[in-house]
Amino acid sequence: MRRDLFDEEHDLFRETVREFMAREVVPHHAQWEKDGIVPREVWKKAGELGMFGFSVPEEYGGSGITDFRYNMVIVEEIIRVGASGLGFGLHNDIMAPYMVELTNNEQKQRWLPGFASGELITAIGMTEPGAGSDLQGIRTTAVREGDHYVVNGQKTFITNGINSDLVVVVTKTDPSAGARGTSLLVVERGMEGFTRGRNLEKVGMHAQDTAELFFENVRVPVANLLGGEEGQGFFQLMNNLPQERLSIAVAAVAAAETVLEETIEYCRNRTAFGRSIGKFQNTRFLLAELATEVEIARHYVDKCVRALNAKELTAVDAAKAKWWTTELQNKVVDRCVQLHGGYGYMLEYPVAKAWLDSRVQTIYGGTTEIMKEIIGRSFGF
Ligand SMILES: Cc1cc2nc3c(=O)[nH]c(=O)nc-3n(C[C@H](O)[C@H](O)[C@H](O)COP(=O)(O)OP(=O)(O)OC[C@H]3O[C@@H](n4cnc5c(N)ncnc54)[C@H](O)[C@@H]3O)c2cc1C
Repeated sequence: MRRDLFDEEHDLFRETVREFMAREVVPHHAQWEKDGIVPREVWKKAGELGMFGFSVPEEYGGSGITDFRYNMVIVEEIIRVGASGLGFGLHNDIMAPYMVELTNNEQKQRWLPGFASGELITAIGMTEPGAGSDLQGIRTTAVREGDHYVVNGQKTFITNGINSDLVVVVTKTDPSAGARGTSLLVVERGMEGFTRGRNLEKVGMHAQDTAELFFENVRVPVANLLGGEEGQGFFQLMNNLPQERLSIAVAAVAAAETVLEETIEYCRNRTAFGRSIGKFQNTRFLLAELATEVEIARHYVDKCVRALNAKELTAVDAAKAKWWTTELQNKVVDRCVQLHGGYGYMLEYPVAKAWLDSRVQTIYGGTTEIMKEIIGRSFGF
């Protein structure tokens, strides 16, 4: 069915992003996978092309456009070439609302120009070694002392953990107040007592720097509190998580489409028992099933993007999109490995890398089980 989500401007922007990926990313990504990180220069080059901060107001170096379809174009083009090391989605889709909507004018002036140019790379630190799904169980504290908060604690699995200059850290400003005791503080590169641990060795996404972060008596100015009011952190997170989950769903569908396309081509050309493996009924039925599910997923996600743009996307809509598309992505990629036979297990084939890169999708941004909890709770049992 015809996809009618995009306008001409989005198609033109897609051309620019596709050309950027071919020139600046694809030739280098294998090396970045070996390095475990992407160089900061590629962030600056992407910034020069206007790939960051659509929603950043023009006076701070952005485009002042709040239209998630541009974010979607970037995610889709990144996925199409398997550039899983670029943490642009985290910066654009997840961090932009925190940086644009929760900042005062003074903070905007300090951070938004760098955010839009790619000179200031962002990250978010929610997860701790002892608490991931159970966000209220975090133990990082921020104790007010005059004009500063003194932050102590640890975060783990942080995307852009090594490259980041600004980390939105979820802290407890009042550990006795439950959800109302959580606050978001921006910790900046170079602050005394803020150190980074290992760049974690992952199953896939090898060029993505995912790290532990440590905070030991870090004095963070009160001027770095987001949202202007202590104790609002939990609600601010809940407000922004649907967009994060939709971004993951967008990536899931794009990955499933890409792998499926490659696999159909593979099945056309590979022969066994004197004919193309695509002629076996098992292959055709399996591809038919996957193609059907992926197309249905595509339309639901596109509808969610329209809803987000209209400020109508609910937490339940986003949870449905997240769990279903990421589970589907895993199924599609796994079945497509099978259709490639032994070649599917060789890393020189994109399907093998896609298999490694996809596994995390049902885990981060809220696990499948947590998504089902969110949906289940909406029935009001
Ligand atoms: C590559 C990668 C990048 C990441 N990037 C970031 C980042 O940038 N910032 C950040 O803050 N975090 C990040 N994370 C962390 C990620 O969001 C968490 O790993 C995830 O939310 C799960 O938390 P956990 O690992 O503590 O697992 P746990 O919460 O310990 O869950 C373990 C298992 O128990 C299940 N479970 C837990 N609670 C329930 C329940 N109520 N009902 C049913 N089942 C339940 C889970 O679904 C899961 O299967 C990243 C993780 C990875 C792997």
